[in-house]
Amino acid sequence: MIASTSSFSLNLSIDHQSTITEHFAAAHLPSNISINDALHAYKNGQFQLLSDNVVNFGIDSPPMWLAITLRNPTKMAINKQLIIANSWLDKLEISVHHQQGDMRHFSRGDHFAFYQRNNNQRFFTVDFAFQPGISYLLIRVESVDPMVLPIYLAEQSDFNSQLLFDSYSYGFLYGAIFCLLAYNFMLAVGLRSITYFYYSLFLLSFLILNISYSGHGFQWLWPHSPQWQQWANPLLMVIFNICGLLFALRFLEIRRLNLSIYRCVIALCICLLLTVLGALILDQQGISLLAAFGFMLLFSLIMLFLGGIAVAASNANGKLFLLASISSMLGTATTGLAVWGIIPYTNLTFRAGEVGMVIDITLLALALARKFRTIESEKQHAQYMAKIDPLTGLNNRRAFYELMPAIWQSTTNKRNLTLALIDLDYFKQINDTYGHVCGDQVLNKVGSILMQNLREEDIAVRWGGEEFLIVYHHATLSQAEILASELAKQIASYPFAKGEQRFTITASIGLAEGCSECHTPGQLIDKADNKLYQAKHEGRNQIRC
Ligand code: GH3
Ligand code: MG
Ligand code: MG
Repeated sequence: MIASTSSFSLNLSIDHQSTITEHFAAAHLPSNISINDALHAYKNGQFQLLSDNVVNFGIDSPPMWLAITLRNPTKMAINKQLIIANSWLDKLEISVHHQQGDMRHFSRGDHFAFYQRNNNQRFFTVDFAFQPGISYLLIRVESVDPMVLPIYLAEQSDFNSQLLFDSYSYGFLYGAIFCLLAYNFMLAVGLRSITYFYYSLFLLSFLILNISYSGHGFQWLWPHSPQWQQWANPLLMVIFNICGLLFALRFLEIRRLNLSIYRCVIALCICLLLTVLGALILDQQGISLLAAFGFMLLFSLIMLFLGGIAVAASNANGKLFLLASISSMLGTATTGLAVWGIIPYTNLTFRAGEVGMVIDITLLALALARKFRTIESEKQHAQYMAKIDPLTGLNNRRAFYELMPAIWQSTTNKRNLTLALIDLDYFKQINDTYGHVCGDQVLNKVGSILMQNLREEDIAVRWGGEEFLIVYHHATLSQAEILASELAKQIASYPFAKGEQRFTITASIGLAEGCSECHTPGQLIDKADNKLYQAKHEGRNQIRC
């Protein structure tokens, strides 16, 4: 469709809340054309009417001319602000031509250092007073960076309320990420955890990337470096993707699950980093941007793929990771579709990517906490298991050595502490007659008889092969003797059986009570051992104190 000055003009007295890009006509014109010749070309119908509300001419595209006819039907000048709502366009030449001949011209773009801007805004803006009658607005855009053109013509007050919303929402976004980052970084240091460290890096890289592509970086952090402004976005995108992948590889334990996929992902990261650095050295901004955007697309797919591998390997955190990746992908896709003009471009659809990312990092924080909890409970279980004798379920010697000092110390009157050393009689014969497996079953049963006879304050330990130890806490020798003889009686009366064969087993017990000469638990054990030896020597199946 050919646009001519008479076929369309935008009424300036009407409020235009959304972008007006679709009302522009566009053309590629020879590079040396003057502004006046371009205006003539527009008036002669050489421009093509656009239709999308945000036009995207892609990365590294040739310079583009846009033009629109504006009509002020009133008798007074109308003040409007022209806003091109992105922060990365390289060079903008903006001119407004009144039908009566006077012309004003403005240069914008991130090729100029930010501090030279007179309005301190991260988007490109020009304030106009449109005189009554017809004016022509001409914009020449030159940009290696994605030529996305959400153009607004707004009342200053409307734009201010949008700026206010942006300020609060970015404040919230950066605050939330910063808190997560600080917290997880402290966890990384405190727990010496590489996974938390990679997660912190992932958060940090997203924070810096967002600060950069939203234009806050140029505004606040590097207003004097238009050079860095050209390279920040592709470099930070690649770094963000690499950090995300490093975290995913580590968190999902991909190296253990599939070494070749792990190596492929690492190789891809290195290749893309080298490509972007190579492009930087050779000053090929277009190549670096294509590589960065390509990587961004691949990144989402690889994250889903890695999540899928983890889920397939029934990694407990795989599902949460997948959910997180899907939410950030949906957000990014919404932003992408809005920028491409497939769904309406609004401030909210444009920023859906950030919302998705906030959900993503929150879910990942949750997954990390879950993983940490699993590791912690596995560790506790392992610690517990390390102190338990697997055959009998009683404490082992390690547990005894950990528990005993506190008991020893808390017993001021050592006469209240009695040890029993219990050794099964002729146990070797049980093994020899009925087999080792049957011997194990006997030990297991003796273990449960011991446990059943314990009082709350006592401790039972499997001391060695068929030797057990009981700590009778708060029991004098005579009290312990009663307990021990009941125990011996129960062991001796238990009807063991192997198939049709029935047998019983007896135990010899040495008892020793704490006394003033016993300075350590070891001395008390020696005393009980002597008594046990005595019981064995004097015919077994008896208790010696
Ligand atoms: P005594 O009356 O002098 O104590 O004679 P004993 O046969 O009980 O003592 P000895 O020390 O000669 O033999 C103990 C046996 O216990 C030898 C060993 O094979 C057996 N044993 C040690 N630990 C286990 C175990 O975990 N399972 C089984 N089935 N047997 C064990
Ligand atoms: Mg024995
Ligand atoms: Mg023995």
